[in-house]
Amino acid sequence: MILQIDRLSKTYANGVRALNNISLTIPPGMFGLLGPNGAGKSTLMRTIATLQPPDSGTIRFGDLDVLAQPERLRERLGYLPQEFGLYPNMPAEAILDHFATLKGVVNAGERKELVASLLQQVNLYEVRKKSAGGYSGGMKQRLGIAIALAGAPKLLIVDEPTAGLDPTERNRFLNLLADIGEDVVVILSTHIVEDVRELCSLMAIINKGEVVVQGNPARILDEVRGRIWRRTIPRARADEYRARYQVISSKMAAGSTVLHVFAESDPGDGFEAIEPDLEDVYFHRLAEASGGRVPVEA
Ligand code: ADP
Repeated sequence: MILQIDRLSKTYANGVRALNNISLTIPPGMFGLLGPNGAGKSTLMRTIATLQPPDSGTIRFGDLDVLAQPERLRERLGYLPQEFGLYPNMPAEAILDHFATLKGVVNAGERKELVASLLQQVNLYEVRKKSAGGYSGGMKQRLGIAIALAGAPKLLIVDEPTAGLDPTERNRFLNLLADIGEDVVVILSTHIVEDVRELCSLMAIINKGEVVVQGNPARILDEVRGRIWRRTIPRARADEYRARYQVISSKMAAGSTVLHVFAESDPGDGFEAIEPDLEDVYFHRLAEASGGRVPVEA
């Protein structure tokens, strides 16, 4: 089933235009929604999850008009919000049993089986009797995914799930997402470029409520290939280079500054051509969308 988002707009009461005519086509598989903080990712996720209405636009999931029949979307939806509460004194097993009941699995035997298989899937089976309040951040996120999967969703939305996870936990979590069935639409919202690079066959970058680019990551990379150049300079000269070149990122490395610049042809001046990375595309597109200014200093 394909999720089709068409010309979605939303302005909050305070005047912030969080979504500005967003259109996206999202087939089954992993879809990465990448954008800086404040880009509108959570607003978009909440709107798709039918938790808040847009001002205008349509959302279709297969044949379903999502905004007209939100309750039918919810039957097929798993949603892991950015922040969620757990019952801290309850063990994972009891929490999942509770959610499986809510999802309509009334037969006790069936429920037991479902809970055990979910616990195994998210690698929490060994700690199933321990209180969720004592879990690490990564374990809580994995329990969140198990809850989201309890209703066998056809659409799974995960909002910034890897923020605050250490690299091991992050990998474990991303692998878990990658193993979710091929016929499920999984939308992973993140501000971390590597999350998308490693997992997603399709992606979109959004900024200030607008889609800046969407497509296959490899094809998006092709667009900038041969036009990204690198040079390491003394830190004190960074401003001078920024004035002269279209700098898309600058990073500290061993006390110096490593610049990546965008240029149609070899800028000379000690720059070397590099194989672009998704991060280069990301910063380049954000810089373009902000009128050439470098939006992020890493
Ligand atoms: P992201 O998830 O990409 O960080 P958000 O969707 O949370 O972006 O926010 C997009 C913009 O809308 C931001 O400028 C944010 O401050 C604003 N915003 C988000 N939620 C609300 C709200 N409930 N009321 C007013 N402004 C909001």
